[in-house]
Amino acid sequence: MDADVIIVGGGLAGLTLAALLGGAMGNGQGVRVTCLDRDPPASHLNASYDGRTTAVSYGSRKVLEAAGIWPMLERTETGACPIRSIQILDGVSRDVPLTFDSAEAGGRIFGWIVDNLDFRRCLFERVRALKTVHHVAPCAVTDFAVDADGVTVTTDGGSFRAPLVIGADGRQSFTRAWMGIGTRGWSYNQQAVICCAVHERPHNNVAVEHFRREGPFAILPMIDDAEGRHRSSVVWTNHTGRDSPLHWDEAAFNAALTARFPDWYGRVMLHGKRFAYPLGLVHAHNYIGPRMALVAEAAHAMHPIAGQGLNMGFRDIAALATLIGGAMERGDDIGGDVLLQAYQRERRFDNMAMAGATDGLNRLFSNGLPVMGLARRAGLKAVANWPRAKKFFMSQAMGAAGLLPDLIRDCDPDHTEAA
Ligand SMILES: Cc1cc2nc3c(=O)[nH]c(=O)nc-3n(C[C@H](O)[C@H](O)[C@H](O)COP(=O)(O)OP(=O)(O)OC[C@H]3O[C@@H](n4cnc5c(N)ncnc54)[C@H](O)[C@@H]3O)c2cc1C
Repeated sequence: MDADVIIVGGGLAGLTLAALLGGAMGNGQGVRVTCLDRDPPASHLNASYDGRTTAVSYGSRKVLEAAGIWPMLERTETGACPIRSIQILDGVSRDVPLTFDSAEAGGRIFGWIVDNLDFRRCLFERVRALKTVHHVAPCAVTDFAVDADGVTVTTDGGSFRAPLVIGADGRQSFTRAWMGIGTRGWSYNQQAVICCAVHERPHNNVAVEHFRREGPFAILPMIDDAEGRHRSSVVWTNHTGRDSPLHWDEAAFNAALTARFPDWYGRVMLHGKRFAYPLGLVHAHNYIGPRMALVAEAAHAMHPIAGQGLNMGFRDIAALATLIGGAMERGDDIGGDVLLQAYQRERRFDNMAMAGATDGLNRLFSNGLPVMGLARRAGLKAVANWPRAKKFFMSQAMGAAGLLPDLIRDCDPDHTEAA
């Protein structure tokens, strides 16, 4: 065997899993991991590769701490900007019908906004420092052969063998297709236009989710840049096939940004490039096969309306890493059916429920029917005036830290770090 685990795909999910397994799991020695990605690492660090930020929940932060990545993220130029308040707006009204404030949650932070490019930089650095992780890229996986003891992975640069293969190769997963696993899903006929905006006045760590007819418009706080400019990340959902803000000239785009931001931000301007991502839902019928499992977008991709896609992927990673670590400590087969079934039982329903909830939210809030508008505003008002409901939504936004297994919470991520 070349490794204990082979991970197909070195995106945000695959590399986080590699760092988690390689750094702390399995008899305290770290699991031996080979992570294969078809792209050269430099392409993932190119500014045009990914313009998104990620809203990291409290639960995901714990996973990133266990993987030794969180302290690195906090030290990056863009850092991790805490969200202390969430404002929900609906339709054309400038009122704020619902606010979640960290003071109501015992001062706890709702989440942190991190820049995906910096995130990738930290992941590359982290896995480079781990003796247990072998990151091979560019290296495209083209075939698998499964037998009683392990899986042989064929790539365009040679073959690798391990008792367990994990597919973290994204929503078009080659691993999933090879396993013959079908999916359920649809396109939302929406795209998310993403950009960074600079604004006259500070954001005060407020995140805004404005539900508009064409889809949600989100403003996510970022750390001020080196020149002291106040910044926020924008996720602007709109229907595909219409006049997309992606192509508007900069003056028109800036005017539209200023009109969509609440007045207290002052004048708002585009900072850097705009990016567009088509939106759709994908859920795999099954997450496992003989000696193989799927995680993150290879298993489920959802609407970004609640910023939960990767957070759910981190829950997959935490569950699978805990099962693998436990099996190694007991000397059990880590590619065995018992472990894989336990993983699927733990994760599939949770992901299905979140995919369903984000789908429902998008349908409810991107609906122009007046009766739906009335129902929405009544619903928001009810939540605003019902403390138990508010508490429930706040704990959801934080990422249900209680779901995290003890092993992840207690492990020491640094002890196998190379000198
Ligand atoms: C607009 C938008 C905003 C979002 N905001 C948030 C947010 O705030 N919070 C949140 O939690 N989530 C968010 N998400 C979701 C999040 O971005 C995704 O869940 C996440 O990027 C998926 O990561 P991944 O590693 O699973 O897949 P990917 O990033 O797609 O990585 C897959 C990797 O596999 C590699 N690969 C593919 N095929 C092969 C092969 N055959 N051989 C080798 N390698 C292969 C690819 O090169 C790639 O590096 C958002 C999504 C969108 C679209």
